[in-house]
Amino acid sequence: MRNVLVTGGSRGIGSETVRLFAENGDNVYINFNRSRSTAESLKNSLTDKGFSAKIIQADVSVPDDVRNMFRQIENEVGGVDVLVNNAGIAQTKLFTDITDDDWSKMLASNLSSVFYCCREALPYMIRKHFGRIVNISSMWGQVGGSCEVHYSAAKAGIIGLTKALAKEEGPSGITVNCIAPGVIQTDMTSELSEQDLNMLKDETPTLTLGTPLDIARAVLFIADNSSSFITGQVIGINGGIVI
Ligand code: NAP
Repeated sequence: MRNVLVTGGSRGIGSETVRLFAENGDNVYINFNRSRSTAESLKNSLTDKGFSAKIIQADVSVPDDVRNMFRQIENEVGGVDVLVNNAGIAQTKLFTDITDDDWSKMLASNLSSVFYCCREALPYMIRKHFGRIVNISSMWGQVGGSCEVHYSAAKAGIIGLTKALAKEEGPSGITVNCIAPGVIQTDMTSELSEQDLNMLKDETPTLTLGTPLDIARAVLFIADNSSSFITGQVIGINGGIVI
C-alpha cells in the first residue's frame, strides 16, 4: 500500500484528491492547517467505508511544522511515496497595494511550502528509488493574472521548481509534475462575484467551470505507478481557457 500525503487535504481540490487516493487503495495522510473538523469528517467518511486515511496538522509555510509532519509519518509508516503539494492561498489586490506581509505570506504558503515538503520527502523516495510528486500550480502561473501578481509569481515559481526537480530526480525513479488548474469551484473561487464567474465561464471554450474532481482525476493518473514516463510536465486542466 502506498503512503500518500496531500497538503491542504481538508477542503476543495485537496479533499477530492484525498478521496480518490483512498478509494484507489492508498493510505492517505490528510494534511490540514486550520480546518481540523473538516479534515476529521473527511477521514471518518473514508475509514467508515474501510479505506485508509489519517489526519495530520501542519502549517506547510513553516519549515519546522513540515519537518515534524514528515517525522511523524516516517515513524508511523516509513515515509511518503506520493506527495501532492496542493495547499495554497489566493488574494486579489492591485500590485501597488500588495504589502511586504502579503508578498511573504503568498510566497511562503504557495511556493516555499513546496520546497519544504519536497526537501523532507525526497530522501525516503531516493532510498526506495520510487516517488511521485505532483505540484498544484495555476493557469495564472502560466500566463499571469491581473491583480494577482504575487499569486502568479508563486505559481510560476512552482512550474520552474517542478521542471528543475524533475531533471534532478528522474534518474532516481521519481517523477515530478505540475497541474495548472483553470477556474475550479471551491471556497477559493467562492469569493469571486457571480458576474466575474460568469465572465470567466464565457471565456472558457467548454463554457463551464471546473470541479475539484476534474483536478483530482488528473493527479491520481500522474501519480500512478505506471505513469513513470511522465515527468517535468505542466498539465493544464482549464476547459481550454489557456491553450
Ligand atoms: P481552498 O478550497 O481554499 O482550500 C485550500 C486548502 O489549502 C485548504 O485545505 C487549506 O487548509 C490549505 N492550506 C492553505 N494554507 C495552508 C498552509 N499554510 N498549511 C497547510 N494547509 C494550507 O482552495 P482550492 O481551490 O482547493 O485550491 C487548492 C490548490 O489549487 C491551491 O494551491 C490553489 O492555489 C490551486 N488552484 C485553485 C484554483 C481554483 O480555481 N480553485 C485554480 C488554480 C489553482 P485549512 O483549511 O486546513 O487551513
